[in-house]
Amino acid sequence: MPNITLPDGSTKELADGAPIGDAMPGDAICARVDGELVDLSWPVDHDVAAQPVTAGEPDGLHVLRHSTAHVMARAVCDLWPGAKYAIGPPIEDGFYYDFDLPSSLTPEDLEKIEARMREIAAAGQPFVREELDRARALERFADQPYKREIIETAEASEGALGDRFSVYRNDGWADLCLGPHVPSTDRLGVFKLLSLAGAYWRGDEKRPQLQRIYGTAWASQDELEAYLHRLEEAERRDHRKLGRQLDLYSFPEELGPGLAVWHPRGGAFRRQLEDYVRETHVGRGYDLVVTPHVARSVLWETSGHLAKYRENMYPAMRDEDVEYFVKPMNCPFHVLIYKSQTRSYRDLPMRLSEIGSCYRYERPGALHGLLRVRGPTIDDAHIMCRADQLVEEIIGVFDLTLELHRTFGFTEPVVELSLKPGEAIGDEEMWAKATEALRAALVRSGLEYREAEGEGAFYGPKVDFHFRDAIGRLWQLTTVQCDFALPERFDMEYMGEDNQRHRPVMIHRAILGSIERFTGVLVEHYAGAFPLWLAPEQVRFVPVADRHAEHAAALAARLKARGLRAGVDDSRETVPKKIRAAQLMRIPYTLVVGDREIEAGTAAVRDRAGHEVRGVPLDPFVEAIAQEAASRSLEGVNVDALKASTGSG
Ligand SMILES: [Zn+2]
Ligand SMILES: [Zn+2]
Repeated sequence: MPNITLPDGSTKELADGAPIGDAMPGDAICARVDGELVDLSWPVDHDVAAQPVTAGEPDGLHVLRHSTAHVMARAVCDLWPGAKYAIGPPIEDGFYYDFDLPSSLTPEDLEKIEARMREIAAAGQPFVREELDRARALERFADQPYKREIIETAEASEGALGDRFSVYRNDGWADLCLGPHVPSTDRLGVFKLLSLAGAYWRGDEKRPQLQRIYGTAWASQDELEAYLHRLEEAERRDHRKLGRQLDLYSFPEELGPGLAVWHPRGGAFRRQLEDYVRETHVGRGYDLVVTPHVARSVLWETSGHLAKYRENMYPAMRDEDVEYFVKPMNCPFHVLIYKSQTRSYRDLPMRLSEIGSCYRYERPGALHGLLRVRGPTIDDAHIMCRADQLVEEIIGVFDLTLELHRTFGFTEPVVELSLKPGEAIGDEEMWAKATEALRAALVRSGLEYREAEGEGAFYGPKVDFHFRDAIGRLWQLTTVQCDFALPERFDMEYMGEDNQRHRPVMIHRAILGSIERFTGVLVEHYAGAFPLWLAPEQVRFVPVADRHAEHAAALAARLKARGLRAGVDDSRETVPKKIRAAQLMRIPYTLVVGDREIEAGTAAVRDRAGHEVRGVPLDPFVEAIAQEAASRSLEGVNVDALKASTGSG
């Protein structure tokens, strides 16, 4: 009789072939046996070490969501007989399933489906696992073309085990699946269907378009509610909506998908951001360079982009028999700057920095406001250095990364080292050296990190920094890549101290990622309420009556002379309406001026949260906010304290 060793070291004896669930506590929804997740019905036929898995832990949630996706698909098939179902994986925070249905689903349909799901859940249908050979699997899914295609193309991740296929059935409804699942539909926990979307079968625009239903599932009602609250918060912060409201940028149809124009307010914001990036780089020993947007195909052949990156590049432009491409990356241009002269060991490291506009031919379906565009502007730089300088240079990049992001309130990065992908240039030795350098720099920086197989760039391994925003979402922002391949391909050299020719190493790095994406992230992070230094309009004067407008304009001019961005609302609206308008634009300080204020040299100062202090003396206030902006502070001026300390009343 097999022995089960439990996590606390105790053992339990089960009859040969008994389900592992018999050795598990009641709150387990599946089990981990020798490291693998299995159903509670998994028959034990030898001694194993086993752990219960509950819905409260990540693996358990995954199983819960996956099982809920099955029940959703079954509900859809019950309500729309003849429905064709494609795939339905668990995803972060939930699950989806793709369907081929005769009619378009509506939000009301989601309620119907959810109601049917609750009936299925209440019925407590056990999930039953079967293994079929290919012929029987094809027969089982005779009326399901998508399942048949999966069986015919036999992808291991989709339920195929060599020539065997695992199928899970609850009641009469079956799905092709590797499992595991909760033991029965009454163990699903709390779920909710969220939204509808279109999706192509296999993500291929030439294949049928399917209807995707998104849902979420959690172990408890509290967790579900917390999640729905996070979704609402994300919706409120949506940078596409706020971008319109704050008049920052737009995406005119005439430009084509994924290309933005920046309005004056967006331009003011962007200038601050870019100036900060340039200033910080120059302070760290980078040189600023400028390169064009287009280059002949020969450049992209040498760099390897045409061989490995072509599908992300805009189609060629032809001039007689020469092909030109708009740049998807800045790297080869910086290589040419390096190669414009003979370099000596004393010239290294060479740090070339450019906020460079690139063009990437992203699939229209992948575009998302500023977060994924076709014209990203990369805060790019390439460091050419000697092999003995490599680790030190990478550490310098890590320091700069932490410094830049701290300014925006992004701290405590989640760091990942990504290793060689399937499509790659350069030999094994280069990859090994580059990976070692990144690892050494990570260790010496004392950064905690994890390693990800196969996620590197085609020309080298990379380190990614992810940061959490104000509502806890993780964004991948910084990328640092170590590259021995491009120096080889471009035959880059320097004269060593030994008078011999040597090959430099190259570091590629973008700290914010792209200006566009980073802006989208910042808009959502701050919910449009930028810190003063980034705010397009920092101060707005609201004259109480027409006769105060001239005075307000003079004050605004004074602030502008001090390097601040100030505006005057001289519209015919009432004062409360003007204050409301300023708040909607997330203006950091709104200053109301009337007879009393003009006489006393003060203003009624209102911050974005609606806190108002009357009779604030203007000169010290202007000094204080000029200081707030110059120091790129995340904290507003304490106007109450300012008023008290100047003793003005
Ligand atoms: Zn499944
Ligand atoms: Zn690069």
